[in-house]
This record gives sequence, structure tokens and C-alpha cells, in this order.
Amino acid sequence: MTDSPDLLTTSAGHIFQLFRQGRVRTRRELMLLTGLSRSTVMQRVDALLTAGYLREGGTEASTGGRPPTALTPNDAAKTILAADLGATHGRLAVLDGAGQAITEKNIESRIATGPDAVLDVVCSALAGLLEDSGRDPGQVCGVGIGIPGPVDGVAGRPVQPPIMPGWDDYPVREAVGRHFRAPVFVENDANLMALGEAALCYPDIPSLLFVKVATGIGAGLVVGGRIYNGIDGGAGDIGHVRVPAAEEHRCSCGADGCLAAVASGAAIARELKEHGWPTETSRDVVRLVQDGNGDAVKATRQSGRLLGEVLATAVSLLNPGALILGGDMAFTHEHFLLGLRESLYQRTQPLATRSLHIATSRLGDQAGVAGAAVMVRETVFSATAIDRALTDDAGEAAPDLPPLLRL
Ligand SMILES: [Zn+2]
Repeated sequence: MTDSPDLLTTSAGHIFQLFRQGRVRTRRELMLLTGLSRSTVMQRVDALLTAGYLREGGTEASTGGRPPTALTPNDAAKTILAADLGATHGRLAVLDGAGQAITEKNIESRIATGPDAVLDVVCSALAGLLEDSGRDPGQVCGVGIGIPGPVDGVAGRPVQPPIMPGWDDYPVREAVGRHFRAPVFVENDANLMALGEAALCYPDIPSLLFVKVATGIGAGLVVGGRIYNGIDGGAGDIGHVRVPAAEEHRCSCGADGCLAAVASGAAIARELKEHGWPTETSRDVVRLVQDGNGDAVKATRQSGRLLGEVLATAVSLLNPGALILGGDMAFTHEHFLLGLRESLYQRTQPLATRSLHIATSRLGDQAGVAGAAVMVRETVFSATAIDRALTDDAGEAAPDLPPLLRL
């Protein structure tokens, strides 16, 4: 997922990629691989050491003479802040630059209360979490924010999000950037979950479709290690596809007939409530299913079937290697997934699903923050970003850095 180093390109940023990919470990190996002069190698490596991207560590075995010093990428010394915001709750994390979580926290936060209120809570909670982690605030290299709606990642703003009143075109990047001296990246939540799952759990599967089913329904597609956003950031927003089964149902976006109006966690909660069960949210549904409630199991499976009908088209179109279910409904003891599989297999040709791995998210609640960390890491440690940071007088990455993960 890093930039492909062209050996003719010899910037410090490109040299760093060679260390990250494990292709070189010492200055001497770097000289041999790139054909660069000794003085150029010394200069580039010194710049990477001074800025903290590389560290000296250990020695490499030598056939004679003084053993050369090994150089190691120092990603773990940097810090990443991540927030995965859903419709009714969010997960926050402080991670090291290698993507290892240091501290995490769940917060109750209703996205519908608007960007000012939500981002104030999120930023102060993130600042508190950073303090708790004991990490140096000066080492924060990026902040990754996931939100439950379409995003223009270049501008860092939501684009006509159906369930986020007040958020359309809101400058999320600038608002968060006022709290932290680091570049901020904003992405759709399901896209980040797809990225986290693809990078950390399925690195050998080249295309992965992730479907988040919680209060609403959203999907993310990762191809060749990169998020596919579509032209307007709307790729994967399948919750508001009109389906016949939902004709009589009003969706939270205001329209009638959306898939989310019959197959989301909120829709199941509403249906069960009409039958007298105390269900307000998707999490209440999960609790009932886990308790073995027959009505909840039945409604959950039926919703899985309805989603499977729409996913049959997506899978036939894309022929992905993995279809991963995440969000609250992934915790329903496979009942949602069983319904989904049933209608998906019924409605697709065998070739479309022959090699398809269907499973619930392995990262679970952590998928969003893990994906946010991957997004930040792969952008701020890219050759372009490092070259820019090294030439910046202040030694910081420019805040308007465009995400490099876009197709
Ligand atoms: Zn809708």
C-alpha cells in the first residue's frame, strides 16, 4: 500500500519506503540497491534519523571488519489518534504509528446532535485519552476520523449525509485540526472498517467488501489495498437503495422504501418494539438475540435475507474475494449472516461466490479505529508526505495533505 519506490527516484521519502518494505537494512545495502553515492546515502539517512522516521538499532552480521549498523523504521515512536463515529456511539483510540492500540474508549454520542456538539466531545475525549496514554503530544503524526455518511476525503467534509443533520459540507478537518497540531483525515466509517479488515486480517485477498449494519447500513470496498470512494465519495452507501419489501416503510433519511428501513438494526428494533419488546437501538436487538429471543432471531434473519438480496447485485458486479459483516448486527450469533448467505447464494451464479469468503468482522468494535490508523499511517509515512515534512521548516506535515489512498 506504500508508494512503489522507483529506484531512479532517490528522495529520502522513497528511501524510507525501501526500509519499510524490508528491502534494505543498512546504509551499505542502500548504496548497493540504489547505486547512490556514499555521501548522498549518508545525507538522506541522517535526515530520516534526525526527523525520527528511522532509528539505529542492532548490527548486521558482517563478513569482516566493523559490523554495519542496522536501521529500523521508527513508526512506533509516532502516535495516531483515531475516532470511529457511528449514529449513536463512537470509539476512540490512541495508537502508536505502527497501528498498535495503546488506549481505547467508547463514548455515547448521537451524530444527529450536529457537528459542533459531537466534535467538541470527541476532541476533548481524544485529548484526555492522549494524556492518559502518556504519549508526547508533539509526536502525534495524524488524526483519523470516521463518520457514518459519504465523505469528500480531499476536502475532509461530509457530502449530503442522509442521517447526519447539520453535517453537510461541514469542515470536519479544520474543526478537529484546531485541537491537534497534526494533519487530520476524514473518511466514511464503513470504508475505514473495510480498510482495517483488509490490511490487518486479509492482506492476501485483493478485493474486500465490508458491510456495516448497526443503526444504519453502509458498505466499503477496498481494492488492491486502497479504498474505492467513487466520484463523489458515495461508493458503498447501499442503505438507501429502494427495495420492494420496504415500500411501506419510512427511512430515517426521509424517503420511503429504503433498504435501511427494513434491514438495519434500527429497523429491527422498531419492529420488535411494535411486538412489545423493549428495543430502542440495534444494541438492544443484539442483547435479545444473544438471550435467544425467538422474535428477535426471526426478525434478524429476515433482515439478513433482505440485505443479501441487495448484496447479490454488488457481489455479481464486483466478484470480491471477501464479504465481511461488521457493526452491531455482526454480534447476533451469526443469525444475521445466515439470512444474508441464504439469499445471496440463491440470487447469484456459482462463479460469483465460488471463492468468496463470507465472515463476520475479526476486528469487531476495533475495525473502524484500526482502519483510521491504517489510513493515517499509509498517508503520513508515504514518500510524498515524508519529503514534504522534511522540507517543511517546522518539520511538520502540511495540514492540507491529500489522502493518498484514493483510486
Ligand atoms: Zn433512506
